[in-house]
Amino acid sequence: MKYQIPKGTFDILPYGADEPWKLSALWQYVEQIVRQTAIDYGYREIRTPMYERSELFDRGVGETSDIVMKEMFTFEDKGGRLISLRPEGTSSVMRAFVENNLAQLGPVHKFFYIAPMFRYERPQSGRYRQHHQFGVEALGVAGPAQDAEVIDLLCETYRRLGLQNLTVELNSVGDLESRQSFRDALQAFLRPYFNELSEDSQSRFEKNPLRILDSKDPKDRDILKQAPSILHSLSEKALEHFNELKRLLDSCRIPYRVNDRIVRGLDYYNKTVFEVTANVLGAQNALGGGGRYDGLIATFGGPDLPGVGFGTGIERILQTMIAQSVPLPKEPAPLVYWLPLGDEARRTCFTLATECRHRKIFAEIDLQAKKIQTGLQNATRLNAQICVIVGSEELAKGTAQIKHLESRRQEEIPLDQLIDYFVAINQKQAERI
Ligand code: AMP
Repeated sequence: MKYQIPKGTFDILPYGADEPWKLSALWQYVEQIVRQTAIDYGYREIRTPMYERSELFDRGVGETSDIVMKEMFTFEDKGGRLISLRPEGTSSVMRAFVENNLAQLGPVHKFFYIAPMFRYERPQSGRYRQHHQFGVEALGVAGPAQDAEVIDLLCETYRRLGLQNLTVELNSVGDLESRQSFRDALQAFLRPYFNELSEDSQSRFEKNPLRILDSKDPKDRDILKQAPSILHSLSEKALEHFNELKRLLDSCRIPYRVNDRIVRGLDYYNKTVFEVTANVLGAQNALGGGGRYDGLIATFGGPDLPGVGFGTGIERILQTMIAQSVPLPKEPAPLVYWLPLGDEARRTCFTLATECRHRKIFAEIDLQAKKIQTGLQNATRLNAQICVIVGSEELAKGTAQIKHLESRRQEEIPLDQLIDYFVAINQKQAERI
């Protein structure tokens, strides 16, 4: 019987992947850069379980959101508890923050995570049932400078990864007061068109009319063209927050575009919301997004601290890097490829290869090859710099044939000098980097 990977998931492989973004070396590279960028901005890593009690997400993400209504992987465990695989990062971070009483340890907390997320979506290009997000949460600061820092961190991460031509779209969904008055205005505008709206939008009309602004349905979009702007309903405080944020972004020369139609899919946002899109991604062009969620921590039973954060998909980052031909790092290759011919030589080479590895030299040994030709091909495939050939003749003399694979230069070196020889090369190359 042949097993198949579950629908909407993919393997990340060291080689042989059907698409280049599924190569593990690229994942390591992206993860290293995003981790370093977050650390440079003062964020610390947080890791939470891959699943939580379902009610956490009902409360956190919002019961009327698409994620909770349609997309959660939910099951009952043997104890009869309803469990969901995490569809997004913020709710779990809030739960961990409150449960571990981290608020006691200082006024401001900045976390980042790199973690898989699960959404039961209809699989299509750029949409998977398991995807990975880099995300941050900054808790404790209510002012717009925190929003600006978070947006800048997202842009700087993309910049360090070499991404270009991205658009930052910015909006404010106001505070509770602004949203209430906008909700009324939007419902009043949409009511005459109710029967023409898509089924989804009709069901959102009472529960969550703001989400209608997100609709991708062409007819809905047509109707929405004349809809009022949420920016006209902002309370004085929310407007001042938005204006100050724009001033800060301008002074840091972070380009953005105000788009009053962005509300974001999760229910917990207030004031600032933003999305970054990449034109090379096609229909699923959202690379990352986030916003402010003051009040969320309190709904989880924690102190009433403000918060702002983002999440960005690693799959889409890699797909954008490849579509934009961003220069990618070379795979590390062995300095030494040991090629013993015969049992006796294998014993000798195995000891020497082990010694190399203990001296932190990238060394590979061919435990299979019977012929020089096959061994050399294997070494070339791995991009090794030097191949060390030891056969019975060399053993008898106490030497090895050293072949520099790029220049094809060959030399004979006594076995007892080899380790020093490689240590010296390794050191010289490390200094050059
Ligand atoms: P969201 O929480 O929906 O705003 O998602 C944040 C980011 O995660 C998006 O901008 C995408 O880059 C990525 N993302 C969300 N859902 C998926 C998915 N099903 N497959 C791949 N990436 C996703």
